[in-house]
Amino acid sequence: MIYNFSAGPAVLPKEVLQKAAAEMLDWDGSGMSVMEMSHRGAEFMSIHAQALQDLRELLAVPDDYKILFMQGGATAENAIVPLNLVGLAKQSLPKHPATLDYICTGSWSLKSIKEAGKYGKVNVASSARTDDPSPRETEKFTSIPAESTWRLSDDAVYLHICTNETIDGIEFNYTPRVNVPIVADMSSHILSRVINVSDYGVIYAGAQKNIGAAGLTIVIVREDLLGHALPICPSAFNWQMVADNNSMFNTPPTYAIYIAGLVFQWIKRQGGVAALEKINIAKSALLYDVIDNSRLYENRVNNDCRSRMNVPFFLRDESLNDAFLKEAKTAGLLQLKGHSSVGGMRASIYNAMPLEGVQALVLFMREFEKRQVKA
Ligand SMILES: *Cc1c(COP(=O)(O)O)cnc(C)c1O
Repeated sequence: MIYNFSAGPAVLPKEVLQKAAAEMLDWDGSGMSVMEMSHRGAEFMSIHAQALQDLRELLAVPDDYKILFMQGGATAENAIVPLNLVGLAKQSLPKHPATLDYICTGSWSLKSIKEAGKYGKVNVASSARTDDPSPRETEKFTSIPAESTWRLSDDAVYLHICTNETIDGIEFNYTPRVNVPIVADMSSHILSRVINVSDYGVIYAGAQKNIGAAGLTIVIVREDLLGHALPICPSAFNWQMVADNNSMFNTPPTYAIYIAGLVFQWIKRQGGVAALEKINIAKSALLYDVIDNSRLYENRVNNDCRSRMNVPFFLRDESLNDAFLKEAKTAGLLQLKGHSSVGGMRASIYNAMPLEGVQALVLFMREFEKRQVKA
C-alpha cells in the first residue's frame, strides 16, 4: 500500500483517478476525451455546470455569491485580489493608494503581502510574532496572535488572511469579526471543514491541494465586490468579466475542472464536507497525539491553531532525518520531507488521505522511534 503525504499537488481519491482513467479515451459515449472537447460544446458545458452546482451545494454558497473557475493559482490571485478591489477605496487613485490590511501568519500570507504592496498601501495588521511586527523571510511562524492585538486600519478596503498556512501548519479555527470584507486564501483546506461563506467577501483556492489537478483556481466572490477592477487589470483576471462570461471569458482549464467535478461528486458520496471534517479531526488528532507523546518527534505550533491538513514535525535528533525519510519510503509512505524554509518533516493529510494512511504513518513513526531507543 502506498500513501502519499505531498503538500501539493497532492493525493487524489483512488475512485476519482479510476473514473478518469476509464473515461480517458471516451467520455460518456462522446467518442472524445474531455481534453479534446470544445469548452463551448454541450458535453463540456454539462461537466462545467455540474461542477459549479456541486461546489455551490457542498459549501452552501449563498445566491449573492459568484463561483469563478480561473487560472494562475493562488499566487496570481494574490495580485488579482487587489487589482479587483482597490477600486473600492474612497480616496482618489493613484495619488492616495488604497489601504489594504493583511494578517501575516506564515509563508503564504507573507507572499500575499509582498504582491499586494504593488497595488496599494499594505498594513500588516498583525504578524505571527508580536515582538517583531515586521515579518521576515526567515521568521518561524508558530501562532496566530489574538485578534484583540491586531492593528487594523480605519480605512482598509479589505482584510486578507490565509486561513491555512500550508508550509507552517497553522490554521484559523475561527473567522475574524471585522467591518470590512474578509479575503481568504483557503488553498490548502477548502472543503475540509464547514465554513460560513457569508462571513467572507472573497474566498480563493488553487485546486491542487484539496480539490484536484493543478491549473484551476476557485474564486468565490460576493456580488457587490464585482465591478471595481482597476483599468489596468487584465481582462481574463477581471472578476466581473469572468463572471459575466460564466468562467468562459477565455478557454478555462477544462480537464482540471473535470477532475474537480469528479472530486466534488466523491465528497458528496462521503456525506459532504461535515462528514469529511469529522474524519479530518480524527486523522489530525491521531497524528498530533503520537507526536506529542513521543521523545523523538515534536510539533512547534501552538495548540489552538494547529492545522488539520498540514502537520509539520521535527525529529529532535536531526541526524536521523535521512534515515527516517528513507525507511518511510520503503514502508510506502511518500513525500514526507518538510518544506525547505521550515525543515524537518511535513505530513499533508488532505481529504483524500484515508484514515488508514495516517494509521500507517503513526505505526511507522512509533516503530522508528523504538528502533532508535534500542540502537
Ligand atoms: C500552494 C499555495 C499557494 C500557491 O499556489 P500556486 O498554485 O502555486 O500559486 C498559495 N497559498 C496557499 C495557502 C497554498 O497552499
